Amino acid sequence: MSETSPKLRAELEGIPTYKPGKPAATGGPVAYKLSSNENPYPPLPGVLERVTALAGSFNRYPDLACSGLVAELSERFGVPASHIATGTGSVGVAQQLIQSTAGPGDEVIYAWRSFEAYPIITRISGATAVQVPLTPGDVHDLDAMADAITERTRLIFVCNPNNPTGTVVRRAELERFLDRVPGDVLVVLDEAYREFIRDAEVPDGVGLYRERPNVCVLRTFSKAYGLAGLRVGFAIAHEPVAAALRKTAVPFGVSQIAQEAAIASLQAEDELLGRVGSLVCERNRVVEGLRAQGWTVPETQANFVWLRLGERTVAFAAACEQAGVVIRPFPGEGVRVTIGENEANDIFLKVAEGLRKEL
Ligand SMILES: *Cc1c(COP(=O)(O)O)cnc(C)c1O
Repeated sequence: MSETSPKLRAELEGIPTYKPGKPAATGGPVAYKLSSNENPYPPLPGVLERVTALAGSFNRYPDLACSGLVAELSERFGVPASHIATGTGSVGVAQQLIQSTAGPGDEVIYAWRSFEAYPIITRISGATAVQVPLTPGDVHDLDAMADAITERTRLIFVCNPNNPTGTVVRRAELERFLDRVPGDVLVVLDEAYREFIRDAEVPDGVGLYRERPNVCVLRTFSKAYGLAGLRVGFAIAHEPVAAALRKTAVPFGVSQIAQEAAIASLQAEDELLGRVGSLVCERNRVVEGLRAQGWTVPETQANFVWLRLGERTVAFAAACEQAGVVIRPFPGEGVRVTIGENEANDIFLKVAEGLRKEL
């Protein structure tokens, strides 16, 4: 056998691999997964029925253009169907956006810490990642991000609310930032948690897209709509960005089951948004509980909370796991804890209280 191995692109060296949230432990008395920002509710019966009915036809390819879903989204948001592009989760669409805009020598700007897929998909493309630190309050530093723009900048992610801190940028500062971005640089507003926002000052990205040809909005069915396992997300973008997304899509990436489940979810939106309302109540209960215990918790508008714990991060996560809740540690920085079942949130609060007392 030959000693050599196939030549791989040098850009792949040092790319961090995506770390999925740890699964809940099995075998223990209770085990809750609060590590991936998933929706704790099981699929709605109506959605499950639609999916089950389709299971008998997966010998066929899906509708390549996702036309039923695109028509539904076009109606729902009041945007032309040609401005909607679907993909395998919004991460899939984000990767297509980078493929469409940036390659070696180009720059992609995003806040850090933010969504961990950004550095991965940026480096895969060969583009240079420009990471702009969050403010001391764990919020996007939009002034610094605008200052970081060069003639090589092709794309800027604004994650609103930010994963993993839950913090938001509001209308005035976001508009001021957008005014500073040249028209030939694409701004991607990643609104994976849009439905959980209760702060009226946070603008809906779709409104900003309407006024600005270089703004694109990313949305997903994975969080509020509870379809994380089916992999479907979408972008709303002007031409020629939307057209570029159709060119860079993996053919037949979104399964027919995912397409139909997404349509059924949009049609059951009232019920799903009712669940989101309950999760928001739980979020507020958890934040207030933590603050009452003495923790500093940044204002969160998403379905998770962030605790900046520094060196205590790993020990904190281990204590949670011992108690039956798996959370997401970012070693040396902090933990992100998804709002889950009420009982899981209770366990988390109890562990946090115990650890607080040890300080
Ligand atoms: C979860 C998440 C997504 C959505 O991922 P999917 O690929 O749609 O499951 C996108 N952006 C951010 C910031 C997220 O946290």
